[in-house]
Amino acid sequence: MMRIDIATLFPVMCRTVMDESIIGRAQRAGYIEVNCHNIRDYAGNKHNRVDDNLYGGGKGMVMEPGPLYACCTEICNQLGKRPKIIYMSPQGEVFTQKKAIELSKEENILLVCGHYEGVDQRFIDEMVDEELSIGDYVLTGGELGALVVADAVSRLCEGVLADPACFMEESHYGGLLEHPHYTHPAAWHDREVPPVLLSGHHANIIRWRREKALENTLHKRPDMLLKAPLTAGDKKYLIALLQKKDEDDGV
Ligand code: SAM
Repeated sequence: MMRIDIATLFPVMCRTVMDESIIGRAQRAGYIEVNCHNIRDYAGNKHNRVDDNLYGGGKGMVMEPGPLYACCTEICNQLGKRPKIIYMSPQGEVFTQKKAIELSKEENILLVCGHYEGVDQRFIDEMVDEELSIGDYVLTGGELGALVVADAVSRLCEGVLADPACFMEESHYGGLLEHPHYTHPAAWHDREVPPVLLSGHHANIIRWRREKALENTLHKRPDMLLKAPLTAGDKKYLIALLQKKDEDDGV
């Protein structure tokens, strides 16, 4: 069973999100364990202060290395080993589905959330295995990033989703965006569900879904097609789509 630890100044915020919905149920069923630790509990001073001014001057505060180190060391002691320690940071490698798959194979990960101007570099140098960003923008704290990573990784762990097919057929897993989905009613606001999905013809449905996944990816994220594992049939279909587009555009 995978155990995820989150070191944060806002454990209630993290706990609240992780205890909801599928991830909450997975914890209660014992498929994953998520622990949220308050870095302030390791402040070591009577005011529970964990940040201080920047050496060299400048605006803002920085999280001191001591409380972060004490918090992570306590988690290592609880585990009896060192987990993969990840610092959530806008300077990190950008988090992707590929990274989520890689992390879901770990037994333990510890996500460290910074705040203010960030954390003292010496903590990163001494304790952190990698830095992860959830995108090229700056958040006020690492919590939202840690929750994104914890959610994406958890749902790949055994037992969390009813069937691995749930995530294996999804966008990004196989290098493409997923096909569109439809449910009842079969006609809604003069819009019909594509007839092939009502046909009961399994092979045709599979082919339609693959073609729509290719079409979706071509229209929304053509960059992904450069790296996607495409069959000869996929390439032929994409060429036909592009030729049709040229004809429609009058090229
Ligand atoms: N001064 C830092 C910099 O310019 O690199 C940014 C600090 S940010 C205001 C405060 C904290 O939010 C960071 O320590 C980090 O934990 C988190 N954070 C901000 N943006 C993030 C992102 N894109 N991905 C993951 N964590 C982020």
